[in-house]
Amino acid sequence: MPKIVGIDLGTTNSVVAVVEGQEPTVITLAEGARLCPSVVGITRAGERLVGSMAKRQAVAAPDRTLSSVKRHMGVSEFVSLAGEQMRPQAVSACILQKLKADAEAYLGEPVTRAVITVPAYFTDSQRQATKDAGTIAGLEVVRIINEPTAAALAYGITATQDQTLLVWDLGGGTFDVSILHITDGIFEVLATSGDMNLGGDDWDARIVAWMAERFQADHNIDLTRDRMALQRLKEAAEKAKVELSSLISTNINLPFLTSGEEGPLHMDIDLARSRMELLCADLLDRLVPPTLTALRDAKLTPAQIDSIILVGGSTRMPAVQDLVKRVLGKEPVKGVDPDESVARGAALQAGVLNAEVQGVLLLDVTPFTLGIETIGGVVASIIEKNTTVPAQNKQIFTTSLDGQTVVNIRVYQGESKSATGNTLIGTFSLIGVPRAPKGVPKIEVSFDVDANGILRVEAIETETGIKQQIKIGSHRALQPEEIAQLQKSFATGSGR
Ligand code: AMP
Repeated sequence: MPKIVGIDLGTTNSVVAVVEGQEPTVITLAEGARLCPSVVGITRAGERLVGSMAKRQAVAAPDRTLSSVKRHMGVSEFVSLAGEQMRPQAVSACILQKLKADAEAYLGEPVTRAVITVPAYFTDSQRQATKDAGTIAGLEVVRIINEPTAAALAYGITATQDQTLLVWDLGGGTFDVSILHITDGIFEVLATSGDMNLGGDDWDARIVAWMAERFQADHNIDLTRDRMALQRLKEAAEKAKVELSSLISTNINLPFLTSGEEGPLHMDIDLARSRMELLCADLLDRLVPPTLTALRDAKLTPAQIDSIILVGGSTRMPAVQDLVKRVLGKEPVKGVDPDESVARGAALQAGVLNAEVQGVLLLDVTPFTLGIETIGGVVASIIEKNTTVPAQNKQIFTTSLDGQTVVNIRVYQGESKSATGNTLIGTFSLIGVPRAPKGVPKIEVSFDVDANGILRVEAIETETGIKQQIKIGSHRALQPEEIAQLQKSFATGSGR
């Protein structure tokens, strides 16, 4: 049976893993690293760069480099890269295609199927966009699973163990807290919180600013105006930060950084961990409120959390680990690399679907109640929050006006009884309902949430059988023709 790979398609970095002999293995990429920066670039000559090569040109050629495209998935129609408008799905597909190619080189066989992870709070359209990115890259996305669930699986936590877990994920650009309850074979997301604009990059930026200030004081030159120098400062800052997770002090040495009146100028400074922690103290503080919010939303105290799992490279910082212990009063579980746990869990789930791994059962639930608006703006719920997916349900509705031939279906997600308190996620019209007094026609509305959490809604007029359906998020999701077009342009290398 050909392998199914597990992919952590991250905001900052992406990772691909596969099960070998029942155990997940992270695949080493063509460059020799295990993390692929989620960065796509176009060179001046028009060549596409993905991963570390693209990251290297990020500051020097910002117009031709795109990072954090995950923030746009299912949210923005287009993103701009090298002066062209690209679909976020197509940019993500570049990353997936590289991971696919490197996995194929490692396995020595074609890879056509993948399990991809997404944040627990991702909506239907964000999940659909992720699936479409896979299709564009030539991957059938057999399952989309939540990142915290994947991390739990990597720690050997299976759905048969009753417990409450807090997953604390601090990556390069985002901070996510998820609280999961595991019982009766179900991973239920109790609460999610976080900060979409907080991550290791902010620590790097503080170090860059400190380095630039020092240089300005010593040489009266503003390095932040020099893109090439700034790129080097950024790389050196990240390296220093990473080193300071295991060292008390490190040296930053950047020869020929720029030139002044007396010739070439270099940077050679020491940075102590304590200094970095001082520079970034307020960033650390910002991790506390989302953690408390998640606990409050889940109606739990720290003592009720059975295990804490740390995910994301930035959780390697000692100050971050100390903070978690201080706020939650417990040691996090250790043993799986925080950069790799999500991909490992995705690979395990892929192994289950491929019948290579036994004994890991994974069921997800709908994170919101789903329903349609009825008379007076009241929402009739059709699938309740926390229903195990896949889930289906239907209800019969009718018309509210005599002779009404068109029924507008407005689909909402959320826990309020009134439409205004919920989020509208899709609308469509059923046209051609036979004229009849109000209340007579029978319109059957069915909801179908698949295992990936993607919702399809169908309305049928039961007498004539006329029907209409939508896949939620389809106003933003790509149409099959568009996917085919993007796949074709991928084959020619333009990907646009
Ligand atoms: P992720 O999105 O999980 O890949 O995390 C990426 C972030 O983790 C980047 O900001 C990295 O600089 C940071 N990171 C990786 N390793 C370490 C480390 N040992 N100490 C501190 N930060 C790290």
